[in-house]
Amino acid sequence: MSNRPIYLDCQATTPVDERVLGAMLPYFTEHFGNPSSISHLYGWEAEAAVKQAREILAAAINATPEEIIFTSGATEANNLAIKGVAEAYFQKGQHIITVSTEHNAILDPCKYLRTLGFDITILPVEKNGLIDLSELEKAFRSDTILVSVMAANNEIGVLQPLAEIGAICRDAGVLFHTDAAQAIGKIPLDMQTMKIDLMSLTAHKVYGPKGIGALYVRRRNPRVQLAPQQHGGGHERGMRSGTLYTPQIVGFGKAVAIALLEQDTENQRLTHLRKNLWEQLSGLEGIHLNGHFTQRLPGNLNISVEQVDGSALLLGLQAVMAVSSGSACSSVTTAPSHVLTALGHSEQLAYASIRFGIGRFNTTAEINSVATHAIATIQSLRRQPLLVIESTTYTDS
Ligand SMILES: *Cc1c(COP(=O)(O)O)cnc(C)c1O
Repeated sequence: MSNRPIYLDCQATTPVDERVLGAMLPYFTEHFGNPSSISHLYGWEAEAAVKQAREILAAAINATPEEIIFTSGATEANNLAIKGVAEAYFQKGQHIITVSTEHNAILDPCKYLRTLGFDITILPVEKNGLIDLSELEKAFRSDTILVSVMAANNEIGVLQPLAEIGAICRDAGVLFHTDAAQAIGKIPLDMQTMKIDLMSLTAHKVYGPKGIGALYVRRRNPRVQLAPQQHGGGHERGMRSGTLYTPQIVGFGKAVAIALLEQDTENQRLTHLRKNLWEQLSGLEGIHLNGHFTQRLPGNLNISVEQVDGSALLLGLQAVMAVSSGSACSSVTTAPSHVLTALGHSEQLAYASIRFGIGRFNTTAEINSVATHAIATIQSLRRQPLLVIESTTYTDS
């Protein structure tokens, strides 16, 4: 294990915490019942476990348990929120507002809705990655039905001002959805004070298992209507049919419970590690911080590096650290990150970027060796003539 690269890609995914795994295991074997089985003990046990996880999640975001709809992750939650609102409210209006730096699980459903005749406004961001609230206000129309702005960006870690956006949307009588896949367990999320109507969550960015997430759907003031995107047995108040995945749900609840308990001390520790890393790296010339300096996830550092080739940089780091870069490629083409180009970066700076996602299991010693190796790699690449390497390295989250 010790020869494996240091994992610093916690915005892509995180390992399952042993405590989470421990809570999940009995629900694969001994307590394997279907939570919908109401006629025997097996079903009751599973139902009780799901109920408990639902209560933990609801309490974590100041919502009620009935407002939590389990999904397979944040991608599904985003699709359900956006398409579900579009379908339920299209007679009221067909205009949706979102932001250029959103995850593709927001942008792509919006682009799909465009093909059905919906009108999508994609707001730009400022150089620090934050939206301009006056731009948002200007974008409202009488037929606007939904605003979707993410809580924490998966590439640059920037935290959008949720409470301010929520207040603006509520005043305008428009539903507010936020993709909080990166935010749950890391920053406070309060559905009442932030006036959030729909919120997407996932477990695997917060030391829970992959394949489980949730959509918070407000039940009163206002009561959000949602057209289901998956029909069947009528689970989850009819909004998302399919047998509930008890072990994953238990793990999700446990992961969020642990994260909340440790949030304050962990955030201090991560902020310290991130600052340490930034201080060392920014000792070099030509290093740019991507995203707001302080209004960001504690564990996220994203930098662009002048005078190096992006692929060569990633290649030079790979043996020592697992990080991602701003060159998100599909299987055929390599395109610079849409988030980094939205900040106004040149292609070179967008490509030659590194996202460090520091997490629960990283240590000071690891951060120091990462800094040392990254600095040495950048210096060595800068001494070589710029060579462009075709790379198939790919990261996305
Ligand atoms: C990871 C991520 C998603 C996708 O979540 P899954 O649970 O993997 O489907 C969506 N939005 C953001 C901001 C993310 O970071």
